Amino acid sequence: MIRVKGLTKQFGTLEVLRGIDCSIQASEVVCVIGPSGSGKSTFLRCLNGLEDASGGQVLVGGVSVHDPRTDVDALRSEIGMVFQRFNLFPHKTVLENITLAPTKVRGLSAAQAHSRAHDLLVKVGLLDKIDAYPNQLSGGQQQRVAIARALAMQPRIMLFDEPTSALDPEMVGEVLAVMQALAEEGMTMVVVTHEMGFARQVADRVLFIDEGLVVEAGTPADLFDRPQEERTRRFLSKVL
Ligand code: ADP
Ligand code: MG
Repeated sequence: MIRVKGLTKQFGTLEVLRGIDCSIQASEVVCVIGPSGSGKSTFLRCLNGLEDASGGQVLVGGVSVHDPRTDVDALRSEIGMVFQRFNLFPHKTVLENITLAPTKVRGLSAAQAHSRAHDLLVKVGLLDKIDAYPNQLSGGQQQRVAIARALAMQPRIMLFDEPTSALDPEMVGEVLAVMQALAEEGMTMVVVTHEMGFARQVADRVLFIDEGLVVEAGTPADLFDRPQEERTRRFLSKVL
């Protein structure tokens, strides 16, 4: 589903990604862990073309993301993204937040979009909030709406960039539960997270990124219980 070959990214003279290689299969859940500033968000943003690559290649379903001939808007509409901050439209209701893109971009009728929003709100446990505004919701609820909004475009891949980092601790679990359910349905997911419990339980594979390189990758058991690299061990000793 995703193939990354020798991906590099520079901001001016700063080398943020220094040659990332990885492949992600359909229905795979890959968690990306690593220190702050190591390039995790940049990596994620390169996967859907939010960020240009300086070198190397990203293929999504065989399509080269950074090829100028690629319709990057079309590609991006098939890749859902959820950020640390919920980014809901503040002056729109939950329903309007979820139906906007499917009607505007996908050309769904209002009735079709409403029906889809209804099903997604059931899935994230927020049907009773369908007419609420974002500021009437808790952070955890807003993040669940953000996930529903991304899913309303029926993406083939979901990218999450520290989706629970801005939440009060008591709200982390409800968001992770929605993500776990999505993983169990077979969604292809790349999740940058500091939630090591989630990574261990839900990920098929964990990538440890440090200083713009994949230092080590493996199953959660390999990475957490039998890390091979000193840098991985040092990082894990701080976060576990
Ligand atoms: P992480 O998500 O692992 O914390 P980031 O990918 O956000 O790391 O950032 C990696 C490095 O790239 C940091 O040093 C950050 O300051 C720098 N960086 C990120 N985005 C930009 C940008 N648009 N312009 C300049 N530097 C950036
Ligand atoms: Mg980041």
